Amino acid sequence: MSLRKILTEPNLILRKKCILVEKVNDEIRTLMDDMLETMYEAPGIGLAAIQIGVTKRVIVMDLSKHDQKKSPLYLVNPKITFKSDLKSKYEEGCLSLPGQFAEIERSSECHVNFLDYNGNKKELKATGLFSTCVQHEIDHLNGILFIDYLSKLKKTMIIKKLTKQKKSL
Ligand code: ZN
Repeated sequence: MSLRKILTEPNLILRKKCILVEKVNDEIRTLMDDMLETMYEAPGIGLAAIQIGVTKRVIVMDLSKHDQKKSPLYLVNPKITFKSDLKSKYEEGCLSLPGQFAEIERSSECHVNFLDYNGNKKELKATGLFSTCVQHEIDHLNGILFIDYLSKLKKTMIIKKLTKQKKSL
């Protein structure tokens, strides 16, 4: 496993639409191992492949608490099959938007079809923070960041801040 560099906004790669994975093979498993290590190191609770510059439909997540056993989740080609009309709001952050947080409203429940670490077809039903996190990560696969849900003014301000931060590095 190795740590990868996380891309931050503004970066045109983050705006690409990711392609489907044809087969979950060792290359994809290595990618998922690297992503998980990178996510734990950051630390974060979710990471999409595109955030390390790989435009494939792959996500890793782990919502376990600090004192709990790690419970990584690997989602390849995730597809939302159901979104509840009922919404909930959570304060979201993103490893590609360092230091930026905002309350975003999303469906409080969603169902997702995906392939797991071994390429087996699975379905998950997510509620609460889990549901928000899955939707946030799947957005990445379509080139969408949470700031896209904010007002144009707020979004522009955040991008300006991030651009400045980058220049001062
Ligand atoms: Zn994110």
